[in-house]
Amino acid sequence: MSEDSNLREKICVLAKSLFDRGLTGGSTGNISARTSDGGLLVSPTGTSFGRLDPGRLSHLDASYFLIAGDAPTKEMPLHQAFYDTRSRTGAVVHLHSCHSVALSMLPDTDPDNFLPPLTPYAIMRLGKVQLLPYFMPGDPAMGEAVRGLAGRRTAVMLANHGPVVAGTDVEAACNAIEELEDTARLAILTRGLLPRMLTQDQIETIVNHSPPDGTSSTR
Ligand code: ZN
Repeated sequence: MSEDSNLREKICVLAKSLFDRGLTGGSTGNISARTSDGGLLVSPTGTSFGRLDPGRLSHLDASYFLIAGDAPTKEMPLHQAFYDTRSRTGAVVHLHSCHSVALSMLPDTDPDNFLPPLTPYAIMRLGKVQLLPYFMPGDPAMGEAVRGLAGRRTAVMLANHGPVVAGTDVEAACNAIEELEDTARLAILTRGLLPRMLTQDQIETIVNHSPPDGTSSTR
């Protein structure tokens, strides 16, 4: 199997796994990954993560023009913003995942650091997650808001909408967005129960020992 068909298969298998576990429903969610020719494979507009067809993924060139497959997701500006501002981005995933969306609606959430420091894994895989405001679906200002972070974050949370996470490859991006959703779920489960958070010292130790693969940002 060629490198391209391997990547096509991997995108569809990972997307279906996210869908099957209820991490994005209906035709929500979109995913993109860098190809060996410097272009992108992207989930087409209006498709379900549960039923992506490897042969119909949108194939864009390095300038984001469609060269084969179906038309790409309408949320491409979000993906482009990560590829353009973080040169090591190999994949971007966006979900409408329930617990992270719920957490984005609650008061007393720090926009600069959306997830409370509950476990080391979110810190390792995501760094600090920026909470962005609510935007109308399709508003190009969403992409502009990501560009405004100038590549300093690998993950953002769109309020009342869903998370967007970049990774060095499609597997890393999916693992990281799952960690974001799991941590948001823990935050909701423990909200009001005075959970013991990681201390600043513990957080710093984790940051200093995080793998130097560019997948997490400084805290
Ligand atoms: Zn969306």
